Amino acid sequence: MTFLEYAPAPESTAILNLRKSYGLFIDGAFVDGRGTPFQTISPATEVPIAEIANANGADVDAAVTAARRAYERTWSKLSGADRGKYLFRIARLVQERARELAVAESLDNGKPIKESRDVDIPLVAAWFFYYAGWADKLDYAGLGPSPRALGVAAQVIPWNFPLLMLAWKIAPALAAGNTVVLKPAETTPLTALIFAEILQQADLPPGVVNIITGAGDTGKALVNHGDVNKVAFTGSTAVGRAIAKSTAGTGKKLTLELGGKAANIVFDDAPIDQAIEGIVNGIFFNQGHVCCAGSRLLVQENVHDEVISRLKHRLSTLRVGDPLDKNTDVGAINSRQQLERIQELSEVGEQEGAERWSPACELPTTGFWFAPTIFTNVSTSHRIAREEIFGPVLSVLTFRTPAEAIAKANNTPYGLSAGIWSDKGSRILGVADKLRAGVVWANTFNQFDPASPFGGYKESGYGREGGRHGLAAYLEARGWNSPVPSEGARA
Ligand code: NAD
Repeated sequence: MTFLEYAPAPESTAILNLRKSYGLFIDGAFVDGRGTPFQTISPATEVPIAEIANANGADVDAAVTAARRAYERTWSKLSGADRGKYLFRIARLVQERARELAVAESLDNGKPIKESRDVDIPLVAAWFFYYAGWADKLDYAGLGPSPRALGVAAQVIPWNFPLLMLAWKIAPALAAGNTVVLKPAETTPLTALIFAEILQQADLPPGVVNIITGAGDTGKALVNHGDVNKVAFTGSTAVGRAIAKSTAGTGKKLTLELGGKAANIVFDDAPIDQAIEGIVNGIFFNQGHVCCAGSRLLVQENVHDEVISRLKHRLSTLRVGDPLDKNTDVGAINSRQQLERIQELSEVGEQEGAERWSPACELPTTGFWFAPTIFTNVSTSHRIAREEIFGPVLSVLTFRTPAEAIAKANNTPYGLSAGIWSDKGSRILGVADKLRAGVVWANTFNQFDPASPFGGYKESGYGREGGRHGLAAYLEARGWNSPVPSEGARA
């Protein structure tokens, strides 16, 4: 079969106004870091983009001190309506600079420009608009009258949705009246630093948000700092577990958003063409660097061959390559380290006897790339069915009855999300009810909305982000015995 050829359609980087080097954003200004600076590179080309400051313990202390001072002197003295005005202003500035932010995100992260332009950045603005609206309505958050802010929030985020994860963390924290020190991931600090410029444009009082860059040691110093009241972490289960241990007994309120190994369940009565699109979106969106990715496909046995054959056909139309090309469907893997992990687990899949398939596709010779991959003949005991690969790799299992689908879907240490494809509403509701997953999508996948809580069961973490539930993670009820929707939402 021949396909129409696409002419290259690269998005211009002329809109970027990047500095050669970025300092730490502390107390409203960029300052030098005391650690050894590092480069952030484009994972598609391995070309350095900018030099980034590295925060050591003293820098972390300066950032937390600035956040504490801002909390006591300014932010906690403002009315909710006034805090909301700042958040609305930030949301509008994100919209104004949306194209620049999208280009910077694709350059630094490797994700296709059509995703950063149409998904990440619009959701960032939506998150700030949504929580701006809550800032003067905290009495209605479900925590009783006048719930109290916690104080200084320490927030550590990963590299897969750099600016979106920042928005998920900062917007509810500020709306609830807290001040923030946030550390972006070391491979994707760029948009957080452009966001710091947006905060200056928005005239946000100095110290209300501080952004410090660095690797795991910086994150560790931040979450262990004695003067933070709240720790919010998104990242790997291993680091989440270490943070849970180190914060236990300190009185710091903790939310963890960790890994996943979601089941995407296709019943034989599903609209197959739609399901194919949902499977592709579930695991190949953002190169599969998605904590809630549908990385385990459970297909009813009698439609397995048809689904796999149509899926292979669809995969051979995916365009893998330059993240800044508007036609690209699958971009670069975020780092060499992540690429090696994906390669290693895929080799294990083959050794364990699963059947590996990728479409013919030419990968660029520089940068970090991995072809979209499907494993069939996978059994529940295989490592590729149990461990999070966090890349464009789908493991396919089969089932015969709804009960078997549910048992296999729940047979995982994780519980972040799941998908169900079926024509029958009653079947969808019946199955969804029995899945141990924080989010269950029906006849769709990877849909996000700021009004909808998101979070996991078991090793996927605890606490909820988004919606009214997301506010509860940053507030304390005052003397009113109300049902707290957030932390208690974990079953
Ligand atoms: P990671 O845990 O290594 O890093 C995440 C962040 O934590 C980075 O900013 C890193 O510098 C920092 N960090 C590393 N060690 C630390 C320590 N000891 N103390 C404090 N901070 C530390 O994870 P990663 O490899 O960057 O991200 C991939 C993982 O994140 C995947 O497992 C994925 O499932 C998970 N993730 C989960 C969600 C979610 O919402 N549940 C979202 C995105 C990613």
